[in-house]
Amino acid sequence: MTYDPNNIFAKILRGEIPCEKLYEDEHTLAFMDIMPQAEGHCLVIPKQASTGLLDADPACFAPLLATVQKLARAAKIAMKADGVTIMQFNGSAAGQTVFHLHVHIIPRKDGVPLKGHTGQMEQSALLKARADQIRAALSV
Ligand code: AMP
Repeated sequence: MTYDPNNIFAKILRGEIPCEKLYEDEHTLAFMDIMPQAEGHCLVIPKQASTGLLDADPACFAPLLATVQKLARAAKIAMKADGVTIMQFNGSAAGQTVFHLHVHIIPRKDGVPLKGHTGQMEQSALLKARADQIRAALSV
């Protein structure tokens, strides 16, 4: 599969469509998932273009995982979660719907099942409120 530079995350990276940004550095961007599977569900993407893990330049993995760890810690604290599910899909057969490499970070509470993947759009005020909590946890 060839990389489509007009996929939605490429557009977010270019600032052509908005996102609820949580963190950005030279190599990565983190933002809220608009259809969260649990409170505080966020995504981390590398700035380098690839459709998924399989065609990515391995050089992007270290900065990507460092940001995943940073966001997972902050989201867990901010959401007062008991654990964090980290997910990453490759190909539509595996459930991938956006073809720019991304890692899901989903704070989990004991006994609370995950909502469906790409289910319901969250209200933007609620997304922002949770993003504010995660941004606050990132800054301590
Ligand atoms: P995947 O199915 O692994 O490709 O995940 C794509 C994720 O991106 C889903 O969880 C969607 O809810 C999320 N998503 C789609 N469009 C946007 C967007 N514009 N901003 C934030 N998250 C999005």
